[in-house]
Amino acid sequence: MGLCSNAALPVDREAFLREPELLEAWLRELDPSRLEALWQAADRVRRECVGDEVHLRGIIEISNFCVRRCAYCGIRAPNSRVTRYRMAEEEIVACAAEILSAGIHTVVLQAGEDPALDADWVARVIRRIKQLGPIAVTLSLGERSDQELRLWREVGADRYLVRFETSNPELYQLYHPPRSDGRGRDRLEMLRALRELDYEVGSGVMIGLPGQTWADLANDLLLFAKLDLDMIGCGPFILHPDTPLGNRDIAEVEGLASKIEHASSSGHAAIAPGERRSPEAKWNTPEETAPAGWPPNAGPEQVPADELTTYKVIALSRILCPWANIPATTALATINPQMGRRLGLRRGANVIMPNFTPQKYRKMYQIYPGKAETITTSRTILEEVLAAIAAEGRSVGKGPGTSPNFLRRKRMAPHP
Ligand code: SAH
Repeated sequence: MGLCSNAALPVDREAFLREPELLEAWLRELDPSRLEALWQAADRVRRECVGDEVHLRGIIEISNFCVRRCAYCGIRAPNSRVTRYRMAEEEIVACAAEILSAGIHTVVLQAGEDPALDADWVARVIRRIKQLGPIAVTLSLGERSDQELRLWREVGADRYLVRFETSNPELYQLYHPPRSDGRGRDRLEMLRALRELDYEVGSGVMIGLPGQTWADLANDLLLFAKLDLDMIGCGPFILHPDTPLGNRDIAEVEGLASKIEHASSSGHAAIAPGERRSPEAKWNTPEETAPAGWPPNAGPEQVPADELTTYKVIALSRILCPWANIPATTALATINPQMGRRLGLRRGANVIMPNFTPQKYRKMYQIYPGKAETITTSRTILEEVLAAIAAEGRSVGKGPGTSPNFLRRKRMAPHP
């Protein structure tokens, strides 16, 4: 017993930064009693650094048009099975007003990478939302230019979310091909630009992307600390059947077969349990060809896209980035609708992002199948979220819930 016990492994930030191998060791840990030390450390840091309040963010998925071909994502441009929509300005503002009247002081505008959401139109929407009352605006609109980001910040946008998805450059290339018009940008460089433009900056990764190794995931965590992120959102990868990954022989990738069957049995996926598409149907269109190195394969080093790994990532992120806002994400609630959010809150998270997209659009924004909330109304979602927070003995955040990491950075800046 105890030959390689993680009970002796340190669980503090300085140790992680000094000895990054510790991160990988914790990620690989499976013993529940040893993991208890990790959960407790994360919960302690969470309480001391960001307190007991759980901040709510009302999310509106304003468009599912997308020019990108990200291999993991269900609304990728080549997926012709998606019915595309773009919300009208009035609808978005009405939805934001509903969020505010529910007592939530942050609205998140998320979309595919949709150039038709042009700079001035988005600026107008931001201005109108800010006129509704005391409300923070978070944008998650993909890779956009410095000019756009500057304009939106000037008219009142407070925060921007753009995940770097994986810190492994080869894997990133495989999953995230460039825009054909060359207008995409390096996400790490964009994160630096956002910081210079004085946004609260959020990023994150997917957990268990096929091809992702434990070492990759440990590097992702280190990069969170290096980027000094204000917000960190991570969730399990969930296989979407109408993507190049969904069409492959799913049995090849450990941990994915059960996911797709779960999604199918809950009636959300277009692929039946055990069904295998023909190899020639691997990519969405005949013009699309698989890149060299596809499909990614990490062999025995593959990170599972599971709940336990997600909690470890939340807990380690909390310890590494004590003052960041960290959500218990919708993807986590999708793979465990009963307890995902509650366990996330218990293991380092302090934010939940209930969905307020009008129901008729919500089912079309399937970046992955079975999204926890596609079948219920915004009101039901909010009630469930409030019940989860109460059950964990936590309180609902009152104000905009600005990232304490951002506030600290401002205070420490020589010229405020
Ligand atoms: N177009 C925006 C918003 C994308 S949706 C952007 O690219 O930034 C937000 C996040 O959902 C993505 O960054 C990705 O990390 C996650 N996501 C996409 N497909 C997913 C899948 N199949 N399973 C789990 N998460 C997924």
